[in-house]
Amino acid sequence: MTTTGNSMIDDAEFERVQQRYAQERAKRIRTDGNNQYVEVSGEFSHFTADPYADPTFTREPLSEDVEFLLIGGGFGSLLAAAHLRAIGVEDIRVIDPAADFGGTWYWNRYPGVQCDIESYIYLPMLEELGYVPKNRYSSGSEILGHAQNLGKQLDLYNDAIFQTSVTDMRWDEDAQRWLVRTDRGDELRARFVSMATGPLNRPKLPGIPGITDYRGHMFHTSRWDFSYTGGDESGDLTGLRGKRVAVVGTGSTGIQCIPHVAEWAEELYVVQRTPAACDVRANRPTDDEWAAELQAGWQRDRMVNFTSIIDGGGADEDLVDDGWTVTYRELTAMTAAEEANESGRPLDRKERSRLMGLADLRTMERIRQRIEETVDDPDTAESLKPWYGRWCKRPQFHDEYYPTFNRPNVTLVDTDGKGVDRLTETGFVVGEREYEVDCIIFATGFEVGTDYTRRAQYDVIGRNGQRLSDKWSSGMITLHGMFTADFPNCFFLGQTQTGLTANYCHTVGEQAKHLAYVVDQARTAGHTVVEATREGEAAYREHFRQVAIGNSSYYQACTPGFFTSEGNIDPDKGFFASFYGKGPLSFFELLEQWRASGDLDGIALGGNRP
Ligand code: NAP
Repeated sequence: MTTTGNSMIDDAEFERVQQRYAQERAKRIRTDGNNQYVEVSGEFSHFTADPYADPTFTREPLSEDVEFLLIGGGFGSLLAAAHLRAIGVEDIRVIDPAADFGGTWYWNRYPGVQCDIESYIYLPMLEELGYVPKNRYSSGSEILGHAQNLGKQLDLYNDAIFQTSVTDMRWDEDAQRWLVRTDRGDELRARFVSMATGPLNRPKLPGIPGITDYRGHMFHTSRWDFSYTGGDESGDLTGLRGKRVAVVGTGSTGIQCIPHVAEWAEELYVVQRTPAACDVRANRPTDDEWAAELQAGWQRDRMVNFTSIIDGGGADEDLVDDGWTVTYRELTAMTAAEEANESGRPLDRKERSRLMGLADLRTMERIRQRIEETVDDPDTAESLKPWYGRWCKRPQFHDEYYPTFNRPNVTLVDTDGKGVDRLTETGFVVGEREYEVDCIIFATGFEVGTDYTRRAQYDVIGRNGQRLSDKWSSGMITLHGMFTADFPNCFFLGQTQTGLTANYCHTVGEQAKHLAYVVDQARTAGHTVVEATREGEAAYREHFRQVAIGNSSYYQACTPGFFTSEGNIDPDKGFFASFYGKGPLSFFELLEQWRASGDLDGIALGGNRP
């Protein structure tokens, strides 16, 4: 029987597909896990050079006291600044290696860049700024513009320190401040420091043999070289005329830039290790009438509604109603039907898990069918089909990716799970064949799950010379993912033992609120030092471990990727170790209840305001 997205799937078919998933996984599992990638430092550091900033920029070093230093200029710090302004913090400095606000949206300007989360819930503080995004899914430049507007609205530009990287950060017990040094010779003495250094800030390169031999042009998608390709994020890559180009990688970035490269290159080779699973995007302009009728509080309601559905909690109404929510809506409908059949009895965990597997399979079958219907060449269509569960990799959505393979100048180079064998002076080798190309574009993603301080690119030295890299060498130890003992007045925002939402801005918004609450409590009580207690972090760690996501059999069976530390799930390190296993809304509720109790359990306040 051929299953489709709409037909019923019998148990035998379900089993057959699971076996195929296991076979495809086995092809890709490798012992070197994250070590298969090379760090973009040393001889590879040019891959992180900023193509958008003025390289001649210089300034005098700074030496000054700062009340609040926010490291990172993305939405994490912008939201922290918004909440800190609300409690009356005036002296805020934001520091970032980029030349502007925007974080990931500063760096990722590749052609086709777009947020895969609905703009109305992704772009934070829309109501506060009185802004309605132009489209249902925003382009990168619109999001970058929004970050810049937040920077202006929050009056952060005058004190922002751009094109500057922190090199080290040390707690001065006598001064009760952080001494923060930078690569421009600055010495900042900050009372409070918040680190929102980003989950996807370090590009990664595959450690392909011969990567230093290649003599053609190479760059990573997060530093797109428009001086070579011409054009901008909307395309028009005239510099690629007559060029043979390879794009390595078919993740969320690859699928967005590939259709644009295909339009301009003489020849495009799409080098695939694991096929994308690309569902319908259906972007559309914002309906002005709909926008005009939005009531106060609409954005928060919509954000919570989306996260609640993705979290498996359900909701009476699906406000976002897109590819992210459809699998879960289907699951809710199936659960309800099954419960009705079983005389109203609630389903047990095993039954729910079976239904979840079926709902997942239906989505993947629909995607495989989409490929079959779109791609003309049957062999190419077959190679493009993804064989893994929907949530093993970040779900992808695009309407031009699959049709790109019908272009005569586009070749899919399917490496059957192995990746590129090696680079030569003139191209790349897969199997027996060498492909000569003028340019190789790495859409190979970012470091996820490597050590926190490696990704931050500096160490943090706390009380008694304790290094954060040592304290967290076997995994993070925190209270609420934001505070850690011996590192007073230092806060962590981002994917740090927190609630995992597909909508990153929802998570950092909740963290920012929590941060401002704790700082406000300390300031109101006349204290200048805030720190997690050992008991507090130990209790949180224990609870966190008990509910760990990595325990789930679903992820154990997944094809490798950054979610599963390339197939080596470790309960203490890696992507899933960054997230609270009971789901984001439970995590946000935990924080809310903690705040409501008012006793700051697990936090010690010290120091006295002069
Ligand atoms: P990614 O998801 O990590 O994808 C990297 C790609 O490179 C994968 O297809 C990977 O194959 C491939 N690859 C790695 N090593 C290879 C090798 N040796 N040979 C051939 N292929 C190789 O990275 P990304 O696409 O940049 O996305 C990263 C994250 O950024 C996303 O998950 C998402 O969170 C975010 N993002 C978001 C948006 C958005 O719309 N909001 C857009 C872009 C990115 P395997 O699958 O086999 O590992």
